[in-house]
Amino acid sequence: MSVIENYNEILKEVKETAKKVNHHVDLLAVSKTQSVEKMEELALNNVKMFGESKVQEALSKIEYLSSKYNNLEFHFIGKVQTNKLKKIVEYFSLIHSVDRFDILPIIDKYACELNKNQNILIQINIANEAQKNGIEPVLLDEMIKSALNYKNITLKGLMFMPPYEEDVSKNIPYFNKAASLFQKYKNDTFNILSMGMSHDFKDAVMCGATLVRVGTSIFGERV
Ligand SMILES: *Cc1c(COP(=O)(O)O)cnc(C)c1O
Repeated sequence: MSVIENYNEILKEVKETAKKVNHHVDLLAVSKTQSVEKMEELALNNVKMFGESKVQEALSKIEYLSSKYNNLEFHFIGKVQTNKLKKIVEYFSLIHSVDRFDILPIIDKYACELNKNQNILIQINIANEAQKNGIEPVLLDEMIKSALNYKNITLKGLMFMPPYEEDVSKNIPYFNKAASLFQKYKNDTFNILSMGMSHDFKDAVMCGATLVRVGTSIFGERV
């Protein structure tokens, strides 16, 4: 199947699952390591949202596609390195992976310089020791309060990535925990719960995800 056929198939599954839980779910096409040609096949067919995790690799793809197609949105889903933050703020509309306090003032500063508002999600770590990235639930309240203090940052919600890759059913309790943390803070602005990937997006949607991040099932194995 072509990339757009894969995308449409996944989108159909996302929509069917979302219907069961009665809310809208967005599909982010995770294009990290994939060619700009494959991304363009989607952009040509009006797909607007792409996720990238390596700044260096993403920039030329973003520049090329943005010069040809309107209203594209690029989301940063990778580990946030401080020395890459300026470019991240310049090129990405939503950062999913904000996982520590010290990057908030830096994001705010660059966003201010660029005269933009930076949308962010806080990445949470629910399964502690098995996970490296994300902030622990005990710190979430403080992190949210902190993020709300910055003029050029808008906190849009939470991102979660479960530790288990092979046994998908083990993710469900984690997805439920992430959803209950999300519900606690949810409002008109704080309304994105980013969780679910190729192998588990249906479970994530059933548990309350509002945005799923799918790579391999759309683009094929990463190169
Ligand atoms: C790579 C990646 C994905 C997509 O994973 P697939 O299994 O290829 O769908 C989703 N989220 C994050 C944070 C990723 O790094």
